[in-house]
Amino acid sequence: MASMPLTIETPAPDARDLLTQEEAHARAAAVSAVRYDLAVQFAANAATFRGAIGVEFTLAAGAAATAAARGVFLCFRGRTIHAMRLNGVAIAAPDWNGYRLVLPAAGLKLGAVNRLEVEYENAYDTGGDGVFRFIDPEDNGEYVYTNFEPYESHRMAPLFDQPDIKGRLSLRVLAPADWTVLANGGEAGVSAVEPDGRSWRTFIETPPLSSYLYCLAVGTFVGRRSEVRIPGRAEAIPVGLWSRRTLATFVEHDRFVRLTEQAFAFYADLFGRAYPFDKLDHIYCPEFSTGAMENVGLITYNEGYMFRSAPTPSDVTDLAEVVFHEIAHMWFGDLVTMRWWNDLWLNESFATYVSYLCLTEGSDFPGAWREFNVQLKRWALAEDDAPTTHPIAGLVADTDQTFLNFDGITYGKGGAVLKQLGARLGRAGLSAGLHTYFERHAYGNATLDDFLAALEAGSGVPLGDWSNQWLRTSGPNRFAVAISPTPGGRIARLSVNQEVVSGDPILREHLIRIALLRPAANGGVAIEAHEALISGAQSDIPAAVGSPLPIGAVPNLDDLAVGKVALDDATLRLVEERLEAIPDGLLRQVIWTAIWELVRDGRYPVARYAALLVDRLPEEPESTIVQQIAESTISPLLMRYLPDGERERWGSRLVDVARRRLARGGDEGMRIIWSRILVLAAVTPRDVEEGWQVATGETPLDGVEIDQDHRWALLVRGASFGSPQSAARLRAETLRDPSDRGQRALISAAVATPEVAAKHAGWARFFVPDGYGSVVRTTAAVAGFAWPWQRELLTPYLRQLPEALLALGAADSTFARNWFRAASLGLWGDPGAALVAIDAFLVNVNDPAHAIPEVDAARLRRLGLTERDALQRILRQRSLAAG
Ligand SMILES: [Zn+2]
Repeated sequence: MASMPLTIETPAPDARDLLTQEEAHARAAAVSAVRYDLAVQFAANAATFRGAIGVEFTLAAGAAATAAARGVFLCFRGRTIHAMRLNGVAIAAPDWNGYRLVLPAAGLKLGAVNRLEVEYENAYDTGGDGVFRFIDPEDNGEYVYTNFEPYESHRMAPLFDQPDIKGRLSLRVLAPADWTVLANGGEAGVSAVEPDGRSWRTFIETPPLSSYLYCLAVGTFVGRRSEVRIPGRAEAIPVGLWSRRTLATFVEHDRFVRLTEQAFAFYADLFGRAYPFDKLDHIYCPEFSTGAMENVGLITYNEGYMFRSAPTPSDVTDLAEVVFHEIAHMWFGDLVTMRWWNDLWLNESFATYVSYLCLTEGSDFPGAWREFNVQLKRWALAEDDAPTTHPIAGLVADTDQTFLNFDGITYGKGGAVLKQLGARLGRAGLSAGLHTYFERHAYGNATLDDFLAALEAGSGVPLGDWSNQWLRTSGPNRFAVAISPTPGGRIARLSVNQEVVSGDPILREHLIRIALLRPAANGGVAIEAHEALISGAQSDIPAAVGSPLPIGAVPNLDDLAVGKVALDDATLRLVEERLEAIPDGLLRQVIWTAIWELVRDGRYPVARYAALLVDRLPEEPESTIVQQIAESTISPLLMRYLPDGERERWGSRLVDVARRRLARGGDEGMRIIWSRILVLAAVTPRDVEEGWQVATGETPLDGVEIDQDHRWALLVRGASFGSPQSAARLRAETLRDPSDRGQRALISAAVATPEVAAKHAGWARFFVPDGYGSVVRTTAAVAGFAWPWQRELLTPYLRQLPEALLALGAADSTFARNWFRAASLGLWGDPGAALVAIDAFLVNVNDPAHAIPEVDAARLRRLGLTERDALQRILRQRSLAAG
């Protein structure tokens, strides 16, 4: 090839790397039967990687008009094109703006197979997306992995980067011979080692896959594979687990293999077909930007899902959930893929919902709907009852908007609504519908309408009304049980009232179960269940008429309701006295969640909630519930809702309760979670110091062990109080834990120090491009910045914050979003002043003078409004306490 290299260091500032739905639609109509053969070259300690790709595709005959008007293009965000050839003809001057590679119309063959060849070079990415490289500070191990959803795979190579142009991929990788190389499919062969110490690894060609599901992991990863036998397939499936070298002692190969076997069996039955790919590797990736990613045959995980100390039962459930979620995607998402990103919510909600079916019915976690209640439904409710709420289903005009509305409504409400749908269809109807769906669309693409049509065909239940009520409207309803008594103390009428809380003024049809609480022997409580399909403002439950009045009522047995749950005074008093006496863990969990919602809504005083924690949590018999409640509410309670003085008073009481509960003993889960509460609730210098004495064993507490994460948490908190021993202890601790986690804790602690110089140094680095060297490290610094007990120190920064965030929004909007998450303004100790700052930000975020691109501004505005809503809820509680 004779063309000149073309290098684009910085694409034109007005160009944006995005693809619109309209462009994708037109391109999918023109391009089909795509095959990629890709050869990628990696070398140790190199700043770039090289590639050569051959792209074979059929161009439709009717595409003439499109091709002439707009040009057929591939997506490619690279640095240099060394050579390019179309149908055998060298292209000397590629039409490429750094994002799009437009093919010369004259060289294309309509109605026939075309072949494009490109040789190129690209730099690694620094933010965890695209092709990311990490050097382990502990042993200099080198790790390269990819993360492509929604629109990043064209950082690896020129591709038709959209979900509904599926391509077969033949991959070869050149890398140091002692590196591990993993990809979507199995390895077909290894070449002899070349003089420079590298060898070629060749992989079996994949079936047609969407480009965002391609994946590569290359480097000094270690791990192994086992053979797994599954129903419906003659040959065994290799299942592997991999990690970087320095964490290898923590990986649990057998656990992953067992979970994978369970998921393969459960989903094969539910979906009507066996695992559709030839192997499955699980791999932990350093500085991974999200939780996990369902790349075909190679699932990537955040290292946060690795147990570096003894896990609780809830921790194990969380890990199993993410594994089952990602494996569900191998069918729903990977085998059948959404046509466009507007159906991403369905992809995620579905995987979330069926992962809980697998947990509770196909594995060892029968109580997992409790985790679902706290982690997903609570999240969903908070987002649904905020000014930024939106319908579950929506429009996504271009790839930049894919994640615009991606939040608790997508995962949590979507999952809850599917749970409600599953209850309506029944298991047989649901499964029959899914069998139909996979029969119709395997290896292709589908839309929400295709999904609903398959469920209707399989189950015989019409779903038009359901999808309008649940998917196309926003905002939650609230449910309350209303009882009229007879003069003789019996139920004259029992109904469920439904009202609109916020969002669209609509009341929805709902299958719910009502728990009537009745006295039982020895101060116990019995549950009487009533199921009803309710609709409208008031629905009668005739079956309850004539029975004695209950001592309490909760309209959400089994957590089927999607919305807020009201509790009357009698029920609240019963709960405050003996919540633990209710003999149903999920119902107790539902009640805890409902009361926390009352706190957020300013309908239940936060001090009364603190008292509920102190009185009832130690009596809760199940550690999973203690953990869910403690980890979701203690921090917001102490760090945001309670004012100075109250925070310290309740924090110390909780620490005291934890010590006494630990002294009573209990199973391992209880011991671990109450040990964590000892740390979570330590918000005074004395409690932090005493926590540290326990952690180091200087003042041993029977049965208590503070794990490494919580040791670091104590040290960072100690630094935030200006503890004189901080510096020495932090130094000593890095000998115990020299990993990147320890380094991040050091960064947080330095910024947490209550001194002007420390704040100043941190602030200066937050807003420069390199920050602390990587997104994860800089985020750790931001997370150490604000503490409610540092109000005076923080005040000047609160004034600078709007301008600083606006500038950051224009320069690096992704990191500006991290900012909101890491240094949430509720933590700054002065919600009134924080509200003023956020308003100043909101007034200006859309102002063209600040030059924030429109989609970025929309995203930042959403985060700003969410912060504003959170601050107003804190202020509402403060005025409740004052008045
Ligand atoms: Zn997912």
